[in-house]
Amino acid sequence: MICPSSRAVALTQLDGFIPLAGLYARDRNHVKPGHPSVSRLSPAIRHRLITEQEVVGAVLRDHPFGRVQKFIQEVYWRRYWKSWIALRPQVWSDYLESLRGLDDSLVVRSVENAQSGNVVIDYFVRELVTTGYLHNHARMWFAAWWVHEARLPWQAGAAFFFRHLLDGDPASNTLSWRWVAGLQTPGKTYLARRGNLEKYLAPELIASMSNGLAAFENPQSQPPKLVDKSPMTRTDGRVDTLTLSEGGGLWIHEEDLAAENSSLAKHAFSTVLVTADVDSWKNYAFPNSKKDWISAALHDACTRAEQHWQVSTRLETKAAHGEMILQWAKFHKIQQVVTLRPDVGPLNDSLPTLRASLADAGVGLILIDRPEDLQIRPFATGGFFQFWERLQKRFLQLRP
Ligand SMILES: Cc1cc2nc3c(=O)[nH]c(=O)nc-3n(C[C@H](O)[C@H](O)[C@H](O)COP(=O)(O)OP(=O)(O)OC[C@H]3O[C@@H](n4cnc5c(N)ncnc54)[C@H](O)[C@@H]3O)c2cc1C
Repeated sequence: MICPSSRAVALTQLDGFIPLAGLYARDRNHVKPGHPSVSRLSPAIRHRLITEQEVVGAVLRDHPFGRVQKFIQEVYWRRYWKSWIALRPQVWSDYLESLRGLDDSLVVRSVENAQSGNVVIDYFVRELVTTGYLHNHARMWFAAWWVHEARLPWQAGAAFFFRHLLDGDPASNTLSWRWVAGLQTPGKTYLARRGNLEKYLAPELIASMSNGLAAFENPQSQPPKLVDKSPMTRTDGRVDTLTLSEGGGLWIHEEDLAAENSSLAKHAFSTVLVTADVDSWKNYAFPNSKKDWISAALHDACTRAEQHWQVSTRLETKAAHGEMILQWAKFHKIQQVVTLRPDVGPLNDSLPTLRASLADAGVGLILIDRPEDLQIRPFATGGFFQFWERLQKRFLQLRP
C-alpha cells in the first residue's frame, strides 16, 4: 500500500522519510517505481490522520530549514490551495455545476479504461486505478496531455482523479487542474514536454513507453475560453466556540481524523460518533479500494477516540451520516454536536441540511476550526509566493 490508513503507521512512514527530506529538492521530480524520492503521505495528510504541522515539525527536528525548504514549501502548497478555496468556495460549486453539464463522452471513458492509444497515459491510468496514487510529475503530465493534447474538458479529468486518488482533495485537485488548464494563473498554462518526461521518467519505465512520447513532442496550449477572476466571497468565516464546558457529542468524519490531536482533546464529551460520508462516496463513484482505505482510516480514528475520551464510541461506515447523527443525538439526548470543520468539499456541502435537521430536534451543530487553519487563511488572497513570503515573516521563523 502506498500510504497506510492508520495514524501510527503513517507516523512511522514519516519517520522513514525524514532522512530523505534533505535530498528532496534534488530528487523529488524523478518518477520511479515505488516513488522512493517523495513521502507518499498525501492520503494521510489529506484526511488529517497526520497534520501538515506535524509533518513540517518532524522534518525540522532533524534538518535546518534551508535543507528542507523545498519539501516544506510543497506542504504549504497544500495549505495555500485549501486557504485559497476557503476564501472562494464558489470555485468548487462552479466546478460541480460545470460537471453536470458535461456529456459522458466515449473518448473520456476510453482514456479512463486505459485505452487512450498512448502507452504513457495508459500506464498512469493503470497506476492511478490500482494504487490510488500518482507522483506529482505524472499528475502534471497526465493533466497537460488531457487538456492540451486530447482537448478534453479539465473538469472531467479532475473528476477522474478525485474519484481514484486516495488523497483526492477538492482544493488541491480542482485548483491544480485549473492551473494546468490556464484558469488559475491567467495567461499561464502547463505543457508537458518530451524532454521533461525523458529527463524524469526512470529508465526502466521509459523503455516501455517510447511509443507514447511523440505526443509530447510539440505541445500546443489550448487556452481556456474564459478566465474568471474568482473573487473572494468569504472573507470572515463564522467561527464557532464550545458553549458547554463539558458534555455534548463529538462527531468525527473523514475530513479530519485526528480529533484527539486538536483543541477538542481537553473537552469531556459524553459520546463519540465516527461516520463515513457514504452519500458522497456514491455520488462521486469512489471505487471499493478507496472506500476500504477511508473505512480503515475511520476505524483507526474511532479506536484512538475511544482510548482518548473513554466514552461510548460508535463507528458507522454504511449508512448516510445525516440520518445517523440525528438518531445518535436523540438517543444520547445531547444538546450539541461538535465537530472539526470540514473544508470546502462534499461533506461541507451536506452541512446546511444536517444543521437544519438537528435544529428541528433542538440540537446545535458546532464547527470548530483548527487555529492553524484560521491563522494562515487571510494570507491566501493572492498568489502562492506572496502567501509563502507572508508566512515566513509572520509565523515560520524557520531560517537557521
Ligand atoms: C493535476 C493535479 C492534481 C492533484 N490532485 C491532488 C489531490 O487531489 N490531493 C493532493 O493532496 N494533492 C494533489 N496534487 C498535488 C500533488 O501532486 C500531491 O500532493 C503529491 O503528489 C502527493 O504525493 P506525496 O505525498 O508523495 O508528496 P510529497 O512530494 O512527499 O509532498 C509532501 C506533501 O506536500 C503536499 N504537496 C506536495 N506537492 C503538492 C502540490 N503540488 N500541491 C499541493 N500539495 C502538495 C502533499 O500534502 C504531500 O503529501 C495534485 C497535483 C496535480 C498536478
